[in-house]
Amino acid sequence: MKTKCYKCNSIVNTRQRVFNIMGFEVRGWKCPKCSEEYYEGDDINKVLVYNKLKKGIPVKVGALGSSLVMRLPKEVSSVFDIKKGQEVILRVKDKELVVEV
Ligand SMILES: [Zn+2]
Repeated sequence: MKTKCYKCNSIVNTRQRVFNIMGFEVRGWKCPKCSEEYYEGDDINKVLVYNKLKKGIPVKVGALGSSLVMRLPKEVSSVFDIKKGQEVILRVKDKELVVEV
């Protein structure tokens, strides 16, 4: 495919390839002239969400009857492919509450 590199402005002939970024498969292409890399938005978004999760994402605690519920942001559920009704495991790890998918 012919495409334009926005870093060096070259029109280059490229083919899509798969990069491994932090363990995630990310489709994209690399400019043969300046080595700039371009990634598919959906794929690189998983890496961005993963990075956000390492710092922590605040979620609100609500109530459902006598139980408390936590809302899982859509971006998180899509990265981990968590569906409504699915069971996850709550576990204590190094004194922190961890959700295992
Ligand atoms: Zn380039």
